[in-house]
Amino acid sequence: MIDGGEQEDLLFLSGNNRLLRISKDLGRRLQGGLCCLTVEEAEEWNELAAAGVVSTENEMRSRSATFMDGANLAININLTAFCNLGCTYCFAEGGDYGRIKGKLESNTVADIIAFIEANVTRSRTVRLEFFGGEPLLNFARIRELCEGAEQLQYRTGIRFICRISTNLTVLPAGVVELFARHRFIVSVSTDGDAATHDQNRPTKGGRGSWARIIDNCHKVRAASDDITLVARMTVVGGRTALPDNVRALWKLNLFDYFQIYPGVVPAARSAVLDVGAKAEDGPAKTMSNAFLTQLVDLVRAYPSLFQVGNRFKGVLEYERIADMILEGKTALSFCSGGRNYFTFSPDHSIMPCHRLVGDPSFQVGTSSAGLSGKGLASWRLPIDEYPVCSQCWVRYICAGGCKQENFQATGDLNVPSPEGCAYQMQLVENIVTMLSRQPPGYHERDRAPLDDLFVSCGRPMVLNLRAQGAEATVSTHHFHRV
Ligand code: SF4
Ligand code: SF4
Repeated sequence: MIDGGEQEDLLFLSGNNRLLRISKDLGRRLQGGLCCLTVEEAEEWNELAAAGVVSTENEMRSRSATFMDGANLAININLTAFCNLGCTYCFAEGGDYGRIKGKLESNTVADIIAFIEANVTRSRTVRLEFFGGEPLLNFARIRELCEGAEQLQYRTGIRFICRISTNLTVLPAGVVELFARHRFIVSVSTDGDAATHDQNRPTKGGRGSWARIIDNCHKVRAASDDITLVARMTVVGGRTALPDNVRALWKLNLFDYFQIYPGVVPAARSAVLDVGAKAEDGPAKTMSNAFLTQLVDLVRAYPSLFQVGNRFKGVLEYERIADMILEGKTALSFCSGGRNYFTFSPDHSIMPCHRLVGDPSFQVGTSSAGLSGKGLASWRLPIDEYPVCSQCWVRYICAGGCKQENFQATGDLNVPSPEGCAYQMQLVENIVTMLSRQPPGYHERDRAPLDDLFVSCGRPMVLNLRAQGAEATVSTHHFHRV
């Protein structure tokens, strides 16, 4: 049951991700169970159940799916250990990506292309994720990988989507042309207005990086309208509120999408946020109420960001959740890590997650030999077999939390932290409330491009096959479809 404001409550059906409007009075009584319904309400409920509205397709779909379902093969490539920024929250400890060593050499490129040919899924579509350190500091390899992908596509028909996570402080000669040729998705790490960004993401020398990055964003934007620009925002507090930071970037009219994520900050370093801190970093703090309040404020202001003349198409995580509810989709896992997503690095390891590079206990193969077949089972567990999540009401949307953050917080890939759960649950509640207030035009937006955009590290999802339009077959006075 979700508070829908002064007039109504919202009933979210975990079994199939349906959303129904009900009165406040009915909502209050339903908290006590179905036994608290009036005779008339109970009759309607039974009719809805008979029509298939109250159903449990999510569990069946989640259990019957395989690791191959729900997402394309995605290859994350760590181009270099080096980064020219010294971000305060960098999970690689100040920007040097201590777990990655050196630069990716040419001899790994052929191995990656061979791995793709051997492991491509039924979709025959593969996403290349260029990552680092700062990947543009090894641009020669990016170019080689794109050429290799082009040749493989020509030979086999395998289709490629290219995406880069970059701080965009540098633009090597030829890069914008490459972005345009391959219709890149360019995810630029930028945290908001100049003051917020420069505080969070200074250069190694301590100077601001905002002005240079935005200037480069303009150059990328000018190169082609087919390049998708994503503003990747990390929130770790600061003087400017999150909605104002989003608005500052939105006004530039450069970005197609935003991605907003609470920073992973050791407790010892932050009084604001503490998501996924390690035990040795000091006593755990809860996620700041200030952040969760700001999240509510942003979701409330969200509809005002869709305006004719601005290329904004949504916040990726919000649109993904909206898609699951509106279309009836089940998340099979929080991310594709260890399912169809693998990270290649200069040390020739294959890892199930880019944040775990350098930890041999998580290694699942080598670039020359491919997957070893070991170490993948806990990355492919159905959500109903997770020890904590199997009882959670958002499990078919959240699907277990970031495994790397879970591991850091609890020592178990599949046991989340209370702070991480609080964020995930509030996110779903906020989106549910937002959905109930949108005009039908918002519901019908095209969300197909989200599949390629690496939302939540490529969350695998499938249609849950709930009976479409089942609500419309029953005439109800007490339960109404959102
Ligand atoms: S909110 Fe927490 S308990 Fe629920 S599915 Fe997500 S990680 Fe698991
Ligand atoms: S969601 Fe977490 S575990 Fe999954 S790939 Fe991303 S960082 Fe790794």
